[in-house]
Amino acid sequence: MSNVPVFEVNSEVELLWNEIMEAVQGVIRSGKFIMGPNVTAFEEEVAAYLGVKYAVALNSGTDALVIALKALGIGPGDEVITTPFTFFATAEAIGQVGATPIFVDVEECSYNLDPNKMEEKITSRTKAIMPVHLYGQAADMDEIRRLAAKYKLFVVEDVAQAFGGEYKGKKLGTLGDAGCFSFFPTKNLGAYGDGGLFVTQDEAVAQIARKLRTHGGINKYRNEMLGYNSRLDEIQAAILRVKLPHIDHWNENRRGIARKYDDQLHGISEIVVPAELPYAKHVYHQYTVRILNGRRDEFQRHLSELGISTMVYYPTPVHRLPVYQPLNGKSELHLPVSETLADEVLSLPIWPLMHPEKQERAIRSIREAAGLR
Ligand SMILES: *Cc1c(COP(=O)(O)O)cnc(C)c1O
Repeated sequence: MSNVPVFEVNSEVELLWNEIMEAVQGVIRSGKFIMGPNVTAFEEEVAAYLGVKYAVALNSGTDALVIALKALGIGPGDEVITTPFTFFATAEAIGQVGATPIFVDVEECSYNLDPNKMEEKITSRTKAIMPVHLYGQAADMDEIRRLAAKYKLFVVEDVAQAFGGEYKGKKLGTLGDAGCFSFFPTKNLGAYGDGGLFVTQDEAVAQIARKLRTHGGINKYRNEMLGYNSRLDEIQAAILRVKLPHIDHWNENRRGIARKYDDQLHGISEIVVPAELPYAKHVYHQYTVRILNGRRDEFQRHLSELGISTMVYYPTPVHRLPVYQPLNGKSELHLPVSETLADEVLSLPIWPLMHPEKQERAIRSIREAAGLR
């Protein structure tokens, strides 16, 4: 029997082969490779899908975070509250604009920023809160926005893992001052190369983001500020335009696969399945369980021997990464929920076109690794 990968990054390409080839060939024939009609059309289509006024297509999700912070005027001396249980890029972007990431621990139920632990970390330097909707699950946005309003802070959502996800019926990325998406190929809306997106409801902020994208000026050779070269290219935009109309269907498939894992795994005492939160529409970029009793690594090895691939996102919480260790090597910061999760989480195989037979194989192997037959 064939092995089960943790995801198949291009399974949908077979279904869309002709459309994607036509789109790519169209770009090559047109000779317009940068800032052409596909980028403009994609920005309009993705803004309509998300229900947001302004969308600026960028080179990567990391750049979207950097440009969002810059466009909001965040820089040296400022503090930005964020989660340590994320991919490094979230905190890295804060550092890249000269600000300081302030890590607040996460909730066990959502794996996302815990609003109850946030207020004590707010100082006169705090300028923004940057929640991440990890694995496709929404952070507690009402509470985050309530605190942001109380202390006059910006909210910048890192939606890299949650395209199409919702909080109380609204699309993630549209609930704060800025939303930042990634189209890295493994994300749930993935390009065939790097790509990212910045969205906002604020025209002035969108305008600055557009300038930052192209060397600090909209009109060529009229640079107004220091910017970046961070454009989404036409080929990626054309591919994303083919894929965007399918995203709801693919996210729905992910939810179906997640329901089946929930049903089949929730009785196993050693495994904690992801929580269903009443306010969120999870898109299961990852289906991530916790393996208790210090057995995660052993469990993962056992599954691997049975031909089932899994991943640990992320083995080290960001505040414990080498980059944040003071020179004396001692980390003062203790964020117990994140540190425990880093030791316990395991992401199981999931992708929108996963064949039921592959999932059944994965489930049988998981039960076997848990000592059940
Ligand atoms: C992938 C990811 C990013 C970075 O996106 P890139 O497009 O790879 O630059 C940022 N934040 C989170 C949470 C991510 O998962």
